[in-house]
Formats: sequence, structure tokens, C-alpha cells
Amino acid sequence: MVTQARTTYLSDLQNSEIGIITKVIGHGAFRKRITEMGFVKGKSVKVIKNAPLQDPIEYEIMDSHVSLRRSEARLIEVVSTDNSNAIRESKFNGTITDDTISKIVAEKSRTINVALVGNPNSGKTTLFNYATGKHERVGNYGGVTIDTKEAHLKQDGYTINVTDLPGTYSISEYSPEELFVRRHITEEMPDVVVNIIDSSNLERNLFLTSQLMDMNIKVVIALNMYDELEDKGDKFNHAELGKIIGIPIVTTVASKGEGIKELFSKIIDVYEDRDPVSRHAHINYGANIEDAVKHLKTEIKKNKLIYDQFYSRYAAIKLIENDKSFSEQIAQYPNSHELLSLAQKEISILEEEYKEKSETVIADAKYGFISGVLKETYQQEPVNRRQRSHAIDMILTHKIWGFPVFIFFLWIMFQLTFSLGSYPMDWIDAGVGLLSGFLKNILPEGSLRNLLIDGIFGGVGGVIVFLPNILILFFCISLMEDTGYMARAAFIMDKLMHKIGLHGKSFIPLIMGFGCNVPAVMATRTLENRKDRILTMLILPFMSCSARLPVYVLLISAFFPNNQGFVLLSIYIIGIALAILVALLFKKIFFAKQDVPFVMELPPYRIPTLRNTTIHMWNKSLQYLTKMGTVILTASILIWALGHFPRDTKYSKDYNALSKQISANVSLQDSEKKIQLAQIDIAKESERMQKSYIGQLGHLIVPVIQPLGWDWKIGVSIITGLAAKEIVVGSMGVLYQSDMAADENSVNLKDKLQQQVFTDGPRIGEKVFSPLVAYSLMLFILIYFPCVAVIAAIKKEANWKWATFTMIYTTVLAWFIAFAVYQIGNLF
Ligand code: GDP
Ligand code: MG
Repeated sequence: MVTQARTTYLSDLQNSEIGIITKVIGHGAFRKRITEMGFVKGKSVKVIKNAPLQDPIEYEIMDSHVSLRRSEARLIEVVSTDNSNAIRESKFNGTITDDTISKIVAEKSRTINVALVGNPNSGKTTLFNYATGKHERVGNYGGVTIDTKEAHLKQDGYTINVTDLPGTYSISEYSPEELFVRRHITEEMPDVVVNIIDSSNLERNLFLTSQLMDMNIKVVIALNMYDELEDKGDKFNHAELGKIIGIPIVTTVASKGEGIKELFSKIIDVYEDRDPVSRHAHINYGANIEDAVKHLKTEIKKNKLIYDQFYSRYAAIKLIENDKSFSEQIAQYPNSHELLSLAQKEISILEEEYKEKSETVIADAKYGFISGVLKETYQQEPVNRRQRSHAIDMILTHKIWGFPVFIFFLWIMFQLTFSLGSYPMDWIDAGVGLLSGFLKNILPEGSLRNLLIDGIFGGVGGVIVFLPNILILFFCISLMEDTGYMARAAFIMDKLMHKIGLHGKSFIPLIMGFGCNVPAVMATRTLENRKDRILTMLILPFMSCSARLPVYVLLISAFFPNNQGFVLLSIYIIGIALAILVALLFKKIFFAKQDVPFVMELPPYRIPTLRNTTIHMWNKSLQYLTKMGTVILTASILIWALGHFPRDTKYSKDYNALSKQISANVSLQDSEKKIQLAQIDIAKESERMQKSYIGQLGHLIVPVIQPLGWDWKIGVSIITGLAAKEIVVGSMGVLYQSDMAADENSVNLKDKLQQQVFTDGPRIGEKVFSPLVAYSLMLFILIYFPCVAVIAAIKKEANWKWATFTMIYTTVLAWFIAFAVYQIGNLF
């Protein structure tokens, strides 16, 4: 099919190639100038000179020669007649007819690029899925990635490429999402932007619309969740609103697919410039700002490069808003200095006048405009659903009752996660055990078997068992988000969180951290402010994740048989206390002077659908699983290899001879023989491990861990825990010679730990573990290096500097705390 052909731009054409214009993508002054030169749909252009490094390129159009910069030619879509030749040769085998080309041209220009923008939870993804038949994740609270989804649909002979962008309340620059959406609009230049508006919250949603209005782009509004507006009985003359703001409005109910067809025919009309409503309307910002805009526009027009690239009024407004990333972008252009200094001058005049940041002045003017037009077009039914929400909120966000209710919900969540989750956890555990037992039997002895069973099954298998817990935890979290309760939880916690310099919303990632720190780090994206995000990430590792639990359980059952619950709780509480202290400290050190006021919005309560909540849960889990599958797998293999090599170990005893001796011993019973043989195998494995690379590493760090009262085996276990903390248990199993073949090893391991004595060093013969050592070890496990996957997540969400910092500070802190507890405890 012809439409399948890749889009060609004028800049792609070679010397003497001829192209027919199908679309001009640019806007503003550029579009005007280029149109005047004759670059319009259907005209043919011939390349005169296009050398690879040459800029500008020379073209012939309507018998005259013109030159365009490469960047400009990139904004003109064409169909090359050579392309059509190729098609002709394969299909028609005759002379190329004008008919063929014009068909191609027609098809090409019938491709519309559409971008969906709108507030989070306005229904973008639902609409996208319905329109394109895709199944993208719905719901927008935690861990939704900043990326775009693309799909296309066909309607009325047009191919419409739809891009789903991240949800934003604004396209200023408070969050990476906002910047991303803005860049997409100004750089990808979609033909039509669809602004999806949640009808139940017009005022806030229209703020984004007001920013789109500044940009002079083609916009269509999808007035979504129209069912809710009707249910409430509100009266909204949206046609009138559309006329005022120059943007056609189509009502939709995305969840039922209502109005989607109409929306896309409206998009086509707007694209073809045949919609009566669509026009470019200005928001009047008042005399002072308008004056500043006028001065800046004059200056912008002097700079052709900037004038071509940006719509001048938009650029002027952005400059007045003192938008940092926009100014940086402008500063890239030659001769932008004067414009920028003029902007600063205008800003200081305005700020002097209003005694307020220029940005706020513009935002206020926008809100003023919005409430003005809504007054004219919108009549709210007095008893509405929001009031019903208010009634529920009376309890759920009550000053006193809010907390117990919230804690109750949390309690249910953890209860479900751990008690309900323990059943499938056991099944998976058994399954992994069976599978590795099976492989052990069928595979020949050697490195491959070892790698599969100890490296991959031991490492990744140990993590997979937590999947049910993670799924349940994420299901509960998704449920809380989808009903709207999560926003209330953040609201309740806001005051407390502010005390430690964080935002109420930080509370959600922190809670998720008890499940797994990885998705929790990702969930920090919901915070608007980068500094809040980083601070939250930095303290997240102290939220003791479920992977640390097996280590605690082992040590507590071995050394604190009488106060198990209490000791476990104390570890969690110390984690939380540390998080608070560290947050206070880091806030002082790194983010001293900043406080962005933030409005906490409470969306109306919604009854969630099982389907959405499940999809939501699954997407969160998937991110977790892929991290596990990549990072943990690699780390497990690496650690395994360090423990497995070198192979030419020089043993202190001839174990093989010992084994033979036992086998040949007739005075022993068979069962007795088996046990003794197993013990020899384990002793051999332990010595081999000690002499392996990882054993050498363990010995190397002995000077560092000696003050903590540890032997080298704890050192090695801790190193293996870098990949994932549950691996610590497995490593201890191997090193402390527990029988790994049988599954009741945890009992064995417990006893072994109690009996373990130092085999070398100054304290030889003394017991390694005491309750004090066990406790300080648990604290160390709680605090030190979160795990490779978390570090990778922090690197992705912040940058490698913060990731490195987290690695170092947590480990150093862990050492000092373990040291203090051990040494002080020893005094008593
Ligand atoms: P996004 O964040 O903008 O991508 O919004 P989503 O597509 O994730 O939708 C948020 C929630 O609103 C989901 O629970 C949807 O099922 C629901 N929703 C979407 N469109 C409508 C609608 O037209 N009416 C109603 N009542 N609910 C909707
Ligand atoms: Mg979405």
C-alpha cells in the first residue's frame, strides 16, 4: 500500500529529484513565509543542489530558484516522483501518469498526526485505547513512564496517527512530564492537538487549554467524562465556550466509546481548515502584560531565526513567564542576547508593578479568564456528586478519624500482602525447588548445571517467590489510587510530611517501599518537584522492603525466639526513624532554599473497575519483573561466577579419599554413611567457597568488618546481598555448611548459625553470633546499599550522581550504626 511508505521530507531528496508537497508542518511566521514562496500542498519542487553538508539547499519551485535551510526543508513533507516511479515499475510497467502521483499525493496528505494532551486521569489512555484498539495501561498514579504510545486508525479515508502523551496539569516546567509534552508539541509539531478535558473538573483542566491557546496550534477539545457532568445535572453550554476560545469541542465518554467517531471527524475538519469554530483566539492578559508582549514581539521579529521557529506571541509570553528552559532554548540562537535582556527588563517592570512573580501574574490572568468564561457558560447543579464526595471526605480526611481509618487500610493491605501472599509464595517456592531438583537430576555435573541451579535458580528463583506478595500489594495500591483514596492518604499525611520537608504525595512511594523499593523509586515521578523526588528517593531505601524480610526472619528465629514480633517491628521502626532524620538532614544540606507551594487536589471518588485495577497492577508488576529479570539475573550470574571460580582449588584435605574411606567402611550403617558423606561434601564445598574469588574478597574486607564482630562469611554474604538482599540467606546457607539439598534447611541453618565459631583470626574458637551481633547485622542489612535494581532505578529517575551517592552514604551509615550498636552493646 502506498500509505505504508515512509514519510519523506524535502530535505531527503537528492539532486535533480522532484517531489510533490503533501504537507507543511511548521507554523507561525515560517508557514506564512513558505506559503508565500509557493510551498503549498500539491506543488512540485525540484532539487537543484543538495550536497550532504550543504546548508542551505537550493530548490526550484514554480520556475524560480529559492534556497531553504535544511532545518526548514525538514518541515515539508513530500512524495518523491522517483518513489512513484518505483511503484510504477513494479505494478504498471508503463509510463507514469499524473493520476498515479496525484493519488499518492492525496493519500500522503491524508495522514494526520494527532497528539493527546490533558490532565492526569482525564481519560487520555482510555480514549487512545478505544480509538486505536490498543490496550495501554489506564490510570495515572504511580510509576507511569514518561513515554509516548503511538498507534494509528483510519477514518473517512484519512490515516490518523495518535500519540498518547503523559498527563500534565500544565506545560510549564515543573516536572519532566510537562517539559516532555511541551517539547513534543513544539518539536514534533503534530498537525492537531487533542486536549482531553475531564468535565467534572473544568476549571483546572482549562488551565492547560489556556496554555495551548498561547501556542497558536490547531486544537480540538474532547470534553470527556461527559456522562458524569450529565449525571450531576450541570448545565454547560460548551458550544459557546468553544466559540469564545476558538477551539471546537466534542463531548465524549471515552470509557464507553461515545463521541470518539465525532471527535475524529472534527479533527479532520480542523486539519483541513474547514471548521467554522477553529480560529486563533488570544487571552487578554491586561494592559501591563500586553505592553510587555508587544515590546518583546517587536524584538522577536527582528530575529528571523527565532521568529521562524516560534510563534512570536507564544515566545513573548514564555519569556515573560521567565520560563527557564525556554530561555535556555532561545539562548542557543545567535543574537538572542538583546531579546533575553529585554525580557528581563520587562519582567522586572511587571514584578515591580504587581509585587508578584511574573509567572504568577500570567497564571492569575489565565485563571481569571477561565473563571470568566465558565461564569458565562457553565451552571453547576447545587447538589452534586462532588458534594457526595465531600460527605465521604468528612470521615476519610477528618482531622482525627482520618488517621485510624488510614492505618486500618494500611493494616489490611499488609495483612493481605503477607498472609494471603504466603500461600502462593510457598507454591512457587516448592515449584522452583522441584524444577531445580529435576534439573539437578537430568543435567550432568559441571559448571553449566551449577550455573543453572545455584546461579540462576538460586538468585532469580529467590526473587520470583515474592511475586505474589508484590502482586497483592500492587493490587491494593492500584485499588486505592483508582478509587481516589490514595489522594486522600497523601492529603492526610501532607502536614506530617511537610514537617520533614517532604510533600504529602511522597508518602505513597514510601509506603510502596515496604513492598519493593524499585517500583517505589519509579512512583516518585508523581511528585511535581525534582527536589522532592530526589529527597524521597534518598530516604526510600530505609523503608524495609520485603526482600529483607527473609534475612530478618532467619536471624530473629535463631537469636530472638522469645520476642520475634517485637524485634521485627523495632527494625521497621528504626528504618522509618532513620528516614525521617536523614530527610531532615538532607533537606538542610542539599535543598535548603526551596518550597514550591502545591495544591493538593482531591479527585471525586470513583468506583474502580476490576479490569482497570488489574491492568494497573500488572503494569506496576511488569516494571518490577523486568528489573528483576535483567539486573538480578546479571548480578546473580556474576556472584555465582565469583563463587564458582577458580576451579583448580588446592584443598587442605583429600576429600575424595575421605569419601571413599567412608563408602568402604563396612561397620557403618547406610543411613549413617549418607550423612557422613554429605558432611564431607559440604566441608569440601565450604573450603572451595572460601578459596574462590568471592571467598578471597570476603577475607579482603575482614579488617573493615572485624570492628562489627563479624567473620568473613558474613562479609561474603553481605557482598552477595548487593544484588538482592534475600540472596544473603542463600549465601549464609552455603557458607555455614547447611545442607542445601534438603528444604528444611532453614531449621538447619538456624542451628548452624547458633553453633558457628570463628575458624581463624584473633577470636578463633569463640562463637560468631550473639543476639547483639544478629541485631547489628539486621540493622546493617536494613540500611546498607539497597540493591542493584534500586540503584539502577535511581540512576534512571535522577542521575548517576545521586545513584552513586545513595550507594555510598547508605553503606557508610550502615557501618557506623552497626558499629555503634555492637560496641555500645558490648559494654553491657
Ligand atoms: P489518563 O490518565 O488521562 O490516561 O486517564 P485514564 O484513561 O487512565 O482514565 C482514568 C479513569 O477514568 C479510568 O478509571 C477510566 O476508566 C475513567 N474514564 C475514562 N473516560 C471516562 C468517561 O468518559 N466517563 C467515565 N465515567 N469514566 C471515564
Ligand atoms: Mg494515561
